[in-house]
Amino acid sequence: MALSGLDIYKLLPKTNCRECGFPTCLAFAMQLAKKAVELGRCPYLSPEAKATLEESSLAPIRLITFGKDKKIELGNETVLFRHEDKFYHPTAVGFIIDDNLSDKEIEERLDRINRLKFERIGQLLEPELVAIRQNADKKRFVEVLKIISQKIDLSFVLMSSDIDSQKEALSCVADKKPLVHPQGKENLQEFAKLAQEFKVPLVVCSSDLEEMSHLTKALKKQGWEDLILDITAKSLTEEIWNLTQIRRLALKKKDRSFGYPTLMVVDEKDPYLETIKAADYIAKYASIVLMQGTQPWQILSLLTLRQNIYSDPQKPLQIEPKVYPVGQVNEKSPVLVTTNFSLTYYTVLGEVEASRIPSYIMSVDTEGMSVLTAWAAEKFTPDKISSSIESFGVKNLVRHNRLVIPGYVAVMSGDLEEKSGWQVIVGPKEASGIPAFLKNLTRTGVG
Ligand code: SF4
Repeated sequence: MALSGLDIYKLLPKTNCRECGFPTCLAFAMQLAKKAVELGRCPYLSPEAKATLEESSLAPIRLITFGKDKKIELGNETVLFRHEDKFYHPTAVGFIIDDNLSDKEIEERLDRINRLKFERIGQLLEPELVAIRQNADKKRFVEVLKIISQKIDLSFVLMSSDIDSQKEALSCVADKKPLVHPQGKENLQEFAKLAQEFKVPLVVCSSDLEEMSHLTKALKKQGWEDLILDITAKSLTEEIWNLTQIRRLALKKKDRSFGYPTLMVVDEKDPYLETIKAADYIAKYASIVLMQGTQPWQILSLLTLRQNIYSDPQKPLQIEPKVYPVGQVNEKSPVLVTTNFSLTYYTVLGEVEASRIPSYIMSVDTEGMSVLTAWAAEKFTPDKISSSIESFGVKNLVRHNRLVIPGYVAVMSGDLEEKSGWQVIVGPKEASGIPAFLKNLTRTGVG
C-alpha cells in the first residue's frame, strides 16, 4: 500500500541528522512518498520500519514477465476501472495444443495460429501464447514441444502435472522462458523449486479464494513469488466473481496474497460460447486467456475488444496530421478532409481503398477527436482546415481546388469556402457512402 508522507515520517528516526541530504526527516519522508528518492539514503531505519516501507513501495499486483523474443508482461495494474487511469498490460491470448493430436493435426493448427494477424487502426493485433498440454507420456510431450518450437515464435505455456515431463520440457526451451502450468495443486512445492531453478513463473491453481491465498503465502515463504493465479472454476458466474474479487482484494484491501496476474482456461466446444467466455474474461481482468478455437472471426473480435479495453481513455488514438496519398494519386485526385482520430481516419481510408479511386486524405489535427466531437469542441473549424491546407502544401499536390468535407459538417461549407478559397463539396455523412460518392464524383468529372 502506498503510504502518505506523514505515514512515512512516523516510521523515520526523527533526529533530523541530515545524513540523507535533506534538512529534516519530514522533508525526506515527503520526497520518499513521491518516489523521488531511494529509501537507502537514511542509514538509521529500524529493520521493522525498513520492511514496512519496502512493502509499501511494491506494486499491488506483481509484474510478471516471461517469454523471450516476444516478451510477455502481465500485472502491475493499479485500478479497478479503466477510467480511473488506464489498464497497463493487455490480456495475453493463447491456444492450447494437446500432445495427443497427430503431427499433421498439430501442424495444421500451427499454420492457422500463424495466420492470425490483423491490422486495426494502424496497430498489429496478434495472439501471444501457445500452450502445450500433456495427455500422453513424457516423450510425446517433449516431442510436440520441439515440433511447435520450430514452427512458431510465440511464448510457451507448459501444461503438465508430471514434474519429470515439466523438467525435461523446461530443459529443452529454457532460453524461451516459458510459463509452467502444473494443472493442479499436487506437488506444488516441487514445481515451485523447478520454477525457481529455471527462473520462470509458475501457475497456481484453485477455484477457492481462501485456498488460493494459503497457497500463494506458502510459496512466498518458500521464496518464489513469480506466480500467476488460475482460478478456472465450474461456472462462468463463479469465475467472473473470483476474477473481480481477486482484483478488489489486491487493489482495495492491499492483500498481497492475491497481488498476482490471473489466468483462465476456456473449456468450451461451441465456438460462439467459447468466444463469449473469453471476452468475459478479458473484460473482467484476466491476464491470460487460453482457448482452443482458432477461427479468425473469434480471434479478431477478441483482440479488438482487448485493444479497446487496453487503450488509454485519456488519450484518444491519433495519427499524424498530414496529407496521406491513397493509391496512385495524381494532380486530379480528389482531396478528402477528415480528423486525426485513428478510428475515423482508418475507417475513411478503408472506404477510399475499397473505392479503388486514388485520392488524398487530409487529416487535420483535432487532438484525436472524431468529426462531430471535434466540430462541437471547435477543433475542426474552417480556420483550422484552411491553415492545414496551407501548411500541408495541398495546392502543390493537385491542380484543382476542390475539397470534400464530411457530410456531418456540411454547415461549415460556406465559411470554409470563404476562408480557404477552395470549392467545398459536401461528402457523405457515413464513411460507408464514400465509394459510391467518389465513383460519382469522378464520373461527373468533378473530382
Ligand atoms: S538520514 Fe534518516 S534520520 Fe537523518 S534526517 Fe534523513 S531521514 Fe532523518
